[in-house]
Amino acid sequence: MKTYSFVLLVVFGLMLSACAPASVAGETDFSNQVIEAVATTGMVGDVVKNVGGQRVSVTTLMGPGVDPHLFKASEGDVRTLEEADVIFYSGLHLEAGLSGVLERIGDRLNVIAVTDGIDRSRLIAPPEFQGAYDPHVWFDVSIWMDTVAVVQGALTELDPQSATVYQANAERYLAELEELHNYVLTRAAELPPEKRILITAHDAFGYFGHVYGFEVGGLQGISTQSEASTSDVQAKADFIVEKQVRAIFIESSVPKRAVEALQAAVQARGFDVLIGGELFSDAMGDPGTPKGTYVGMVKHNIDTIVSALKGD
Ligand SMILES: [Zn+2]
Repeated sequence: MKTYSFVLLVVFGLMLSACAPASVAGETDFSNQVIEAVATTGMVGDVVKNVGGQRVSVTTLMGPGVDPHLFKASEGDVRTLEEADVIFYSGLHLEAGLSGVLERIGDRLNVIAVTDGIDRSRLIAPPEFQGAYDPHVWFDVSIWMDTVAVVQGALTELDPQSATVYQANAERYLAELEELHNYVLTRAAELPPEKRILITAHDAFGYFGHVYGFEVGGLQGISTQSEASTSDVQAKADFIVEKQVRAIFIESSVPKRAVEALQAAVQARGFDVLIGGELFSDAMGDPGTPKGTYVGMVKHNIDTIVSALKGD
C-alpha cells in the first residue's frame, strides 16, 4: 500500500511539472537560452525589444492597423501566449477583449502590465470614461518612459545573469526617448496656440494634448467600442468651422469613414477642411520601416500634425 501511494505521488508530481508554466521567475535558467516574450501592442513590443536586446525574442500579437480596443485572441494567439516565458501588455483596460485570457494565463505565467510602473497621479481619468483611466499613455513620451523600468525589472528577475545588459539597454533607450520628447515639444512649438487643435477618429490623444499643448477631440470616445453618432459629427463640424481648423486626421487602426463624414459635414457648411494625413494612434506602422518603431511612429505623427495644421 505504501509503495502504491509513493508511485501515485511520483506520477502526480510528474503530471504537475508537465503542466507547469514554461518558466517562473527564478526557476528557469536563461543564461544559455533566449527569453521568449510576447507583447500585445507594437508599442509594448518596442520597449521589450529595446530593453531585451539579443537576450529576448519578442512576438507582437497586434500588427499594423490592428485596434487593441477590439482585438480578440484567436486560438493561435492563445497558444502563443501560453507558450511564452513572459507576457507584456499595455494595461489600463486598453486590451479589453484580452482581459479574460490574460487573467486565466496570469495564474501560471509571468503576465505584466507595463503601465503598472506609472505614477497614478500622472494618469488622466476622463469623466465620460466612467472613472477609469485613459489608457493611451504612450502619447506622452515622458510618461511612456516609466514603462522601461517595469520591463527591465521583469527581465532582470527572470534572467539575473544579464542584469547589466538590461540596465545598459534601458539607459540607452531612455536617452533616445528623452530626445524624442524634446523633439515633439520643439515641433509643437512651431504652431501658434490657436492652431493647436487636433481632431481625430477617436479620443486617443488626451495625453498628447495635455503635455504638448493641443486642444484635442475625437469622433469616437476613448474606446472605439462605441460608434460616433450623427450628433457627434454635427457638433464637431460646427466646432471646426467656428475655429477655422485647417485639417483633421484619420488613424491607421480605425476605419476612416467617420472622419470622411465629418469632412463632408464641414464642407456642407461652406468651409473646406483637409484630411491632414494618417496618424498611428493605437498601432504602429509596418515592421522594418521607421513608422514600425515607437520613435518613428511618434515622429511621423507630430510631423504630419504640424505640417497639416501649419499649412505648408
Ligand atoms: Zn484607442
